[in-house]
Amino acid sequence: MPKYSIDKLITDFDETISERDTISILVHTAADNREHEKAQLLAAWQEMVQWYLTRYHRVCDAWLNPRHSIVDFLKAFEELEAVSIQRVIAKGFLEGLTREGLKAVGRNVVKKSGVDRVLSAMRADGVEVEILSANWSETLIQGATEGLCDRVISNSLMYDAAGCSTGNIHLHVVSAQDKLRKFRERTKKPPNPDEIGDGGIRTLYIGDSISDFLVILDADLGVLIGQNRTAIQTIERFRLPTLQLQEETRFDASQRYQGTILLVDSWNVLDNFLSTAE
Ligand SMILES: [Mg+2]
Repeated sequence: MPKYSIDKLITDFDETISERDTISILVHTAADNREHEKAQLLAAWQEMVQWYLTRYHRVCDAWLNPRHSIVDFLKAFEELEAVSIQRVIAKGFLEGLTREGLKAVGRNVVKKSGVDRVLSAMRADGVEVEILSANWSETLIQGATEGLCDRVISNSLMYDAAGCSTGNIHLHVVSAQDKLRKFRERTKKPPNPDEIGDGGIRTLYIGDSISDFLVILDADLGVLIGQNRTAIQTIERFRLPTLQLQEETRFDASQRYQGTILLVDSWNVLDNFLSTAE
């Protein structure tokens, strides 16, 4: 049974725990429930995705530049994220879903290799596990991570009296700044960072994309998983400090990791890094 070098793990969900982004699964499930207008909905969704991607790349072209700061770069997406969500709500893409249906969709989400084993072992060792996600459905995440986490912090769909989603969303976590705000609410920093290890809580955050960067850079241990293209470009353009963890890299309690992006290819590498065999 491994012993872990952290007290708390806060993790992103889409493409950190899940193999693929689940937003499109949500919309396709909603469309399946509305058979008579399915083709029309999916065509409108494709258009929406293109609309979003065009603007996303425009923001990258304008702001992914060392003349700006990484904070300004990430802030430049705020308006796009807010406008996109309003379009998703206005077009009713998420109408007609039920909580039971979303849980079932969640249970079928394909997860990255090792996630179930690592999260279960951490919880068994007393590590508190929380999910912090900008996904639109907390219920889908709960379905995917039953028994694997203590708490999910995300957005949630609104339902009518019959238990069907209205297409509207209770929004709590949309931008990179929102993630950082929630993360800080969920972590109690000791007044003196040197206290970590003797009484202080040591928190690890793991995510896969640029919306995770503010938290990754803020956490005691900040981990980027995978090879997201914009994330890698962001590291290069802003010359952010990184440390690639290999199979044999082990956590060193005397080292300060805060502010360095720990790069991992898999949950298994992270598990090796954090665990000390008894
Ligand atoms: Mg993600």
